[in-house]
Amino acid sequence: MTHSEATSAPAETAAQVPAVRHAATRRVAVAMEHVPCNHCGHQVTHGVHNVSRLVQCVNCGLIFVNPRPAFADLARQYEGSYFHCAEPTFGGYEDYEADHADIVRTFEGRMGVMRDQVRGERPRALDVGCATGIFLEVARDAGWQPEGVDISAYALARAEAKGFKVQRGTLLDIELPEAAFDVITMWDLIEHVPDPAAVFAECHRLLKPGGVLAISTPDAGSVLARVLRGRWLGFRSIDEHLYFFSHRTIAAMLEHAGFEVRRFVQVGKVLALPRLVERMRFYSRIAALLLRQVDRVMPRLSIHVNPRDTMVVLAVRPGEPPEG
Ligand SMILES: [Zn+2]
Repeated sequence: MTHSEATSAPAETAAQVPAVRHAATRRVAVAMEHVPCNHCGHQVTHGVHNVSRLVQCVNCGLIFVNPRPAFADLARQYEGSYFHCAEPTFGGYEDYEADHADIVRTFEGRMGVMRDQVRGERPRALDVGCATGIFLEVARDAGWQPEGVDISAYALARAEAKGFKVQRGTLLDIELPEAAFDVITMWDLIEHVPDPAAVFAECHRLLKPGGVLAISTPDAGSVLARVLRGRWLGFRSIDEHLYFFSHRTIAAMLEHAGFEVRRFVQVGKVLALPRLVERMRFYSRIAALLLRQVDRVMPRLSIHVNPRDTMVVLAVRPGEPPEG
């Protein structure tokens, strides 16, 4: 475990530079910490696409934010306002539960991607970063036995009200028994955590042999990211997102943790038209204006959008599953 203590108060030894926070948490002066590459430990990096504090390890190619605010400061953003915010382009969601039907459709798509890898009739599943429990609902409806972990008290209160077993904390804070799960899911989570290598190692410990880890995360190696460079929406979420993975870098980290990477799938999501307008506005005012006209004629329309810049990675803890 390298620097999982980042979840507590900033360490005295960390290089600290007063700075003004990015839009995700807005104009709050906090201490910044410098971190080595989370995969290989190298300290030497170069800048990426002229995006402030976005760097790439010269040794292994991992892209990350450095320096960055301590996670204890970042964690505060995940309370109520994160799930109802005005500027989701820079992090958060407009109104998470109001988009329930669209999020369910998105997760049903992801269940489809995992289906042939997951074994057992009623797999025991852990959803890390479960938020208000929408994936838990989809998994329960599919016959799974899901439970959740999240750091947001606001979100967990909603998941608990739906009858789910949930725990508050990061995956590294809470204590779960070894080899307890058939599936671990992390939807749009790993890019937020301060120590992804430690999270992968913990997932490996928690999964039964033959168990599946499913991760979705923005794909920094996608065509869209490579063409748009600093203008890619993915790189606009600095500090909310701390790491930006490509197929190559995430596979290297998963293999280092003992996983066997089985498959990459470029996945889309279902978005209500106004949500899509909000994202398009960032790239093209004209396209956004046109979509807004469509929304006037066909309100409540949701469409499946797949710009092919989000990946789902399926990885397996090698070994034969236990009997029963
Ligand atoms: Zn590295």
